Amino acid sequence: MNAKQHDTKALQDLDKQHYMHPFTDSKAMHKKGTRIITGADGCYIYDSEGGKVLDGMAGLWCVAIGYGRHELADVAAQQMRELPYYNSFFGTAHPPVIKLAAQLKKLAPAHISHVFFTGSGSESNDTNVRLVRHYWQAKGQPKKRTIISRYNAYHGSTMAAMSLGGMKGMHDQGGIIDGIEHIMQPHWYHETLVGESEEDFGLRAAQALETKILEVGADHVGAFIGEPVQGAGAVIVPPASYWPEIQRICKKYDILLIADEVITGFGRTGNWFASETLGIEADLMTIAKGLSSGYMPIGGVLISDRVAKVVIEGGEFAHGYTYSGHPVAAAVASANLSIIEDEGLVEKVRDETGPYLQHRLLELLDHPLVGQVRGIGLMGALELVQDKASHTNYPKEVGIGGICRDYALANSLVMRAVGDSMIMCPPLIISKLEIDELMEKTKKSLDQTLAHVEG
Ligand SMILES: *Cc1c(COP(=O)(O)O)cnc(C)c1O
Repeated sequence: MNAKQHDTKALQDLDKQHYMHPFTDSKAMHKKGTRIITGADGCYIYDSEGGKVLDGMAGLWCVAIGYGRHELADVAAQQMRELPYYNSFFGTAHPPVIKLAAQLKKLAPAHISHVFFTGSGSESNDTNVRLVRHYWQAKGQPKKRTIISRYNAYHGSTMAAMSLGGMKGMHDQGGIIDGIEHIMQPHWYHETLVGESEEDFGLRAAQALETKILEVGADHVGAFIGEPVQGAGAVIVPPASYWPEIQRICKKYDILLIADEVITGFGRTGNWFASETLGIEADLMTIAKGLSSGYMPIGGVLISDRVAKVVIEGGEFAHGYTYSGHPVAAAVASANLSIIEDEGLVEKVRDETGPYLQHRLLELLDHPLVGQVRGIGLMGALELVQDKASHTNYPKEVGIGGICRDYALANSLVMRAVGDSMIMCPPLIISKLEIDELMEKTKKSLDQTLAHVEG
């Protein structure tokens, strides 16, 4: 694609007049001018000014197989010709959705038996709220409807998904739905007590769940939801003691466990699901993003045999979306999963690129700005601090994360800032050579950021 064919200024003007952006401060954006992305290939995106940028975020954590995979375009075109749309309501189905469900069953942990499809991760978590409450109602315990989540969790942006999430800025804009409670997040670096080991901190963070269950009453709690590794919260990898303790508490009080694998699913941590990496056996697993590598909007819920049996026995589940199991999205997701399998991308992350990225990230601990390195598989975070010994961040007004992100972009690298953490989550196809480029650009951006705040 010839970038010169795009009139950036004209597009920016039209954008300003008519397009309301998601998660955007419109005034601030239009002062700088909207960045227009016009093409992409492999791990790189191209902008309307002819710039070539390394996408260290795989879009929004989703483009697992990289950009420019024409196989998926062919599959979509073929499916559109054959059957562009039909639904699975009222006793029907079509080949692509049946095939995708069976393919997912094979890839998922053994206790998963069924899949419910949606259009996104947010919708999938809305579905989880419906499923949890329907499940306990069908079992004659309708009071078990409260769902416990964590502060600083991200579960999506619809009303229910946002309420499940623990993002204060989102809750502050209009409040949350009833029946959702939040507990502390397992963020060791910021929330540990003096002298507390990481292991002990993990247990304490998990036991906050037990405290909350006892406060609400176990007969009123239906489920706990958590991302195995928090993504949008700033890539927070919990201590090894955390998930086993959460699992024990859920079993003890007969509470369903929901693993939100929207980011961590499909190879990101070196297994098909982070539940395997971290030893979680969830009753429900939220999926989206890597399911189609973002080529089509599709999400879903992987349902354990235990929950599926009750839902199936319970008569009609009065829930579904017009685009649940959309044939084109399902066909594209199937082809995407086949590519991940055929190219051995999960093994590549586990044995080669995952350990290499983590090793290279740890080298940055020597940098004066980097207080902590977090990561697992092909996701990572650098916590930027003013004082390493006391884990003290820069004052908020400095906005150190934003400064570093802007330098990164000037260095042709997309890296995200979450508060004072620099986040990366590159496509699963990234090579070691491209990881070297990612690290060089990151290092350069850190140096420039340090000079900026010191100068
Ligand atoms: C992105 C995300 C969601 C929401 O998915 P959408 O497709 O944006 O609705 C839910 N959970 C997690 C963990 C996510 O990262």
